[in-house]
Amino acid sequence: MVIAKARAVDGPDKSFRKAEIERRDLDVHDVLIEIKYAGICHSDIHTAHGEWGEVKYPLVPGHEIAGIVTEVGSEVTKYKAGDRVGVGCMVDSCGECKNCREGEEQYCLKGNVPTYAGVDKYGEPTQGGYSTHIVVTEDFVLRIPDNIELDAAAPLLCAGITTFSPLNHWNAGPGKKVAVVGMGGLGHMAVKIAHAMGAEVSVLSRTLNKKEDGLEFGAEGYYATTEPETFEKLAGTFDLIINTVSAKIDISAYLSLLTLDGAMVNVGAPAEPLEVNVFSLIGHRRSFAGSMIGGIRETQEMLDFCGEHGIVPSIEVISADYIDEAYERVLGSDVKYRFVIDTSTI
Ligand code: NAP
Ligand code: ZN
Repeated sequence: MVIAKARAVDGPDKSFRKAEIERRDLDVHDVLIEIKYAGICHSDIHTAHGEWGEVKYPLVPGHEIAGIVTEVGSEVTKYKAGDRVGVGCMVDSCGECKNCREGEEQYCLKGNVPTYAGVDKYGEPTQGGYSTHIVVTEDFVLRIPDNIELDAAAPLLCAGITTFSPLNHWNAGPGKKVAVVGMGGLGHMAVKIAHAMGAEVSVLSRTLNKKEDGLEFGAEGYYATTEPETFEKLAGTFDLIINTVSAKIDISAYLSLLTLDGAMVNVGAPAEPLEVNVFSLIGHRRSFAGSMIGGIRETQEMLDFCGEHGIVPSIEVISADYIDEAYERVLGSDVKYRFVIDTSTI
């Protein structure tokens, strides 16, 4: 068993503190990873604050993990010590249901095992990446392309796949107009990936403060949603809208920006229910959908795609002592565009 150093939180309004957690002995298919970097996702904040329902504390969040394999179980074939690897939002699933067999483990009919705030097959609570080590079964470990630095790779494991998957599924590409709502961690990745896929990308942000960055990331249009004329000007424009906003917004207003048969996909996960006026859907046969991370095969595809296209998130590397302040800054949309913890400071 490995005792990992970690940063844990003890309640919804508590600060992070130093902790030690046990990582299980390696089973035959397990991989021990020395974590080098862990991204801070807004989902970590929703969870740590108990917004998505009851959580068991102490909680070690973190599901954007990049590191190096240090040891493997006796029957591991995919990885060896020294490999550069990542772990995302899930660490296991049943492997047998229809969805798992189709490579959509995130939609496992028995429920996937989340990287933290879950319970693993041994009945133990899972603890995430704000720590120095993790043990994961090899099928849920990803390979990081050589040309992506580990700090920049970390956010791809959630922000990257969560935006890549719906862009892929709803066929973002040449001839398609894609809008990204919210330019935070997920949003800025959606812009970079959709642009690399060949789509014409626009950003719908509350203000024009981050316009220069958005255009640099590959957007051709950049609009402020606090200006009412934006909604008049863009009515009926987009084939696909990816909503990454972490709070409740007026979904019907955004649906009116879709073309005939257009789809708006929610990846943002506010605790509060969203309201939809059906007339904004039925008038133009539009869809309102959701999407959750991506399967393991697709996550590897995304990493390889990012490696080939030279796509990396824009990050600010922080020390573990800065986690509380980073949370405050994410909540204030003051992040360009992902905080990544250097786990050597844990
Ligand atoms: P983030 O970095 O905080 O970005 C969210 C963006 O939403 C902000 O940058 C801001 O964009 C916009 N926003 C925030 N509050 C708003 C408000 N009150 N009204 C309008 N716009 C607002 O968060 P993130 O890490 O990208 O995560 C975004 C959401 O996706 C979270 O709810 C998270 O839990 C969820 N998520 C879902 C999945 C999944 O599998 N579906 C995976 C990961 C994360 P502007 O400043 O540009 O307006
Ligand atoms: Zn996440």
